[in-house]
Amino acid sequence: MKRNWDKEPIERQMTRQDEALKKYLSKVVLPNSAYYRNLFQAYGIGLNEVRCMADLQAVPFTSKETLVAALAEPDGIRSFVLEPDAKALARKPSVILKSLLLGKKSVRKSMEREFRPVFMTSTTGRSADPIPFLYSHHDLNNLRKAGGRVIELGDARRKDRILNAFPYAPHLAYWLTHYAALEKNIFCVSTGGGKVMGTAGNLRLIKKTRPSILVGMPTFIYHLLRQAEEDGQMIRGLRRIVLGGEKVVAGTRRKLADLAERLGSPGIRVIATYGFTEAKLAWPECSHDPAKESTGYHVSPDLGIVEIVDPETGWPVPDGHPGEIVFTPLKARGSVVLRYRTGDLTEGGLVRDTCPCCGRTVPRITGKISRVSQHLSVNMEKLKGTLVDFNEIEHFLDDLEGVGSWQLELSKANNDPLDLDELTLRICPESGLDNRSLANEICESFEQAMELRPNRISFVTPEELRKRHGVGDLLKEEKIVDRRQNAVRSTPIEPHLVKADA
Ligand SMILES: [Zn+2]
Repeated sequence: MKRNWDKEPIERQMTRQDEALKKYLSKVVLPNSAYYRNLFQAYGIGLNEVRCMADLQAVPFTSKETLVAALAEPDGIRSFVLEPDAKALARKPSVILKSLLLGKKSVRKSMEREFRPVFMTSTTGRSADPIPFLYSHHDLNNLRKAGGRVIELGDARRKDRILNAFPYAPHLAYWLTHYAALEKNIFCVSTGGGKVMGTAGNLRLIKKTRPSILVGMPTFIYHLLRQAEEDGQMIRGLRRIVLGGEKVVAGTRRKLADLAERLGSPGIRVIATYGFTEAKLAWPECSHDPAKESTGYHVSPDLGIVEIVDPETGWPVPDGHPGEIVFTPLKARGSVVLRYRTGDLTEGGLVRDTCPCCGRTVPRITGKISRVSQHLSVNMEKLKGTLVDFNEIEHFLDDLEGVGSWQLELSKANNDPLDLDELTLRICPESGLDNRSLANEICESFEQAMELRPNRISFVTPEELRKRHGVGDLLKEEKIVDRRQNAVRSTPIEPHLVKADA
């Protein structure tokens, strides 16, 4: 019987998750994952011991660090990929029965579709090596399913046309969009983003295909619309902008909706998604009135379990409390990580009441999402060795009136590694604003909100900012850059000179 994934009472969903977890661990993961078989053994957890979500607590977390360390080991990353043992399988009564009924060949074929990796995406870390995540056909079906749900929640229609402007790469967002459109039988053209076709190429395709849904990274979509406005190109008939790859705050939505209106598409809705390579899926917001607060990211309880834990202690926090997002898949094959610590913090936590906006009963991740580790120590005139939360600065700048897009650079004064830190804020203002009064306003509110002041604010063209962000070149745009490591002292400076200089 086909069930509605998003309509079941929450208690029923949780019972189903318990059942699915027990079955998934004992029958799929532990028999086939070298990494988790060893881990469970090392921690003395039996094959059938994790029977429900509460028991999951006994399983150690897997984190980005675990995976990076595995990259350095021979076969380390491979140990996370499910590899069934053909001989052991051949002895299983259910497999024997199936072979008798359907024939050996057909059983082998179906096993191969379930387990053989045929597709890959990878993480986009700037500093660390990318970590590959493998998919079998079984995973691609899940990817289609999860993608289809993004379209459902965005209220897309068959007659919509999608333009996918995510960078063309082995990157979850690009492929999720591609498969989502296929799943829902909707026309979709994938431009590959700025690197493949350039801004002009993207705008030409928008003119030709007249998309009603634009999908991409917030900064790139913003740049595209700004460029269209500068070129005098109208973009009519747009209904939705779907964003991924970066967090999206209310200010970004408002700016995009305003821009779209000026381009001839009033009343659009902006839908953010939250996903990560390790989950092999993304969760969307539902389509909501942009004037109202988002009700959060709607998760798929049948595809995985979301836990919210205290980032310090690792203990689960009650529903509706802030904490770090931890994910365990329930249907994945290929690369599988259990209790994966995302390093992302949700401000509103997980809520399990019915969504007041769309009436769906699935759990939602609410509030702003930030990286756990965005606290940087800065040495400024009045703030020697102070820990500053750059997440907060990012949210603040994204939300700021008058600021179109921006970049904040941390560097060393005089390019000297021993000197004070400096903050340079580059701003591309929303069109038609007076730069000088805006600079003063920004400085004032920056200081009030953040208790520190940028050393300088410079106004730049959208083109320059786009280059600095690495739009089209990087998979994550560089909105906050720390160049303090790059400071070099070219010639030794005598101590008295330093003093005289200061
Ligand atoms: Zn909803």
